[in-house]
Amino acid sequence: MFSTSSASITETGNVRQINEDAVVETGNLFAVADGMGGHQAGEVASNLALSIIQQYIEDNLGLISGEKLVEKAITAANATVHLRASTSSKFRDMGTTITLLYREGDTAYLGHVGDSRAYLFRRGGLSQLTRDHSLVAKLVEEGEITEEQARHHPQRNIILKALGLEPRVDVDVTSVKILPRDVFLLASDGLTGLVEDTSIAQVLAEETEPGAAARRLVAMALEAGGTDNVSVVIARFGESTTIVPVKGAAPAVTEEETRPGVDAVPLERKARNRSLRRWVIAITVILVVLGGALAAGYYFYNRTYYVGASKGKVALYHGFPFWGLASNEMTTTVELKYLPESLRRRVESNLETDSREGALNTIKSLEAEVEKNSVLVPAVEGMKFTEARDSLEKVGLRAESELVSRPNVSADTVINQDPVPGTRVGKGSGVKLQVVMPGQPGEV
Ligand code: CA
Repeated sequence: MFSTSSASITETGNVRQINEDAVVETGNLFAVADGMGGHQAGEVASNLALSIIQQYIEDNLGLISGEKLVEKAITAANATVHLRASTSSKFRDMGTTITLLYREGDTAYLGHVGDSRAYLFRRGGLSQLTRDHSLVAKLVEEGEITEEQARHHPQRNIILKALGLEPRVDVDVTSVKILPRDVFLLASDGLTGLVEDTSIAQVLAEETEPGAAARRLVAMALEAGGTDNVSVVIARFGESTTIVPVKGAAPAVTEEETRPGVDAVPLERKARNRSLRRWVIAITVILVVLGGALAAGYYFYNRTYYVGASKGKVALYHGFPFWGLASNEMTTTVELKYLPESLRRRVESNLETDSREGALNTIKSLEAEVEKNSVLVPAVEGMKFTEARDSLEKVGLRAESELVSRPNVSADTVINQDPVPGTRVGKGSGVKLQVVMPGQPGEV
């Protein structure tokens, strides 16, 4: 094992109103996420992704490890961000980059999607460990433009891959054997787009304390304009701190064993000691069994997700569906009333799933079912009645007309509709239309 020192900073910068970046810095997990989507959606995406990743790693410690764990944690975050984006119009286009380092023993596992970066500073040299999933990086790889041109390219912000944009995502996962005094830097493009690699290397060479290095790097990005949110996470792994057992050390002995004259205890006391020992053994067995049951319960609790109902909508629950042992993790916008009767009843009595991912997939298919059975009311105001009726019938809705008089509006025009455009209603529903009757005084 190595001793670890680390630091992280995330800053809004000089231009942006909000900080859509987010960082994680814990004992073994370090990450940067750069959210996008505007109207605070980017902030939601980056924070949601990081919390899902942390939770996933915590839940699966000891079950999966290394590259698999990193890949699955990021895939789970992708599914959650995508689901949140696709079930809410406010978050429709949100997504986030992710670059993380997860340490296990003397290995650093790196997971990466997007254009944030991971660097390794080793023996005075800086190397970039990740490949940007951006348009300009692709153009550089294909020899279309140079690194320098990429830095000022008008499309340098276009990224080709991010978490949350698609239901599935390919994650770049690599690993590095850690050597003493290795420094890993994770950063959003708010740093790397403004500060040259040579300057980054110089700071890391001069500042061995991660906090000081992080502060200097962020200050340099702000001095260079601070046009974007800037985030920096630095982890430095020091000397080996492995405790090697001293050769030839005698195993510990108890006082009882070394005390002279143990054999001299009277017979009666020996018998009492035996019965006491039997009790101690029995109680220990009971405690071990109870502890095991609790541990097993906790183990299953952490892995149990189910899909149920909350206030007329489909919801994701975590835990057991009884005795109040579940928490509502997310209520979706998927409305139960548009599900076929039998399916609705099944959701109301909870659909068990094998994993969080399974639950998210179930929600997706319920959503598809809702879309099959319901439609969004189109806007027909201002149309002629026949035209309005045809538009409604085309999407499976009925027109219910009511004739009204309205001076200065030509006959047959729809002047009001109920429900309003964009309302979700069941297929076959009626839409009330107020239609101007012919022969009005002042008719145009
Ligand atoms: Ca950015």
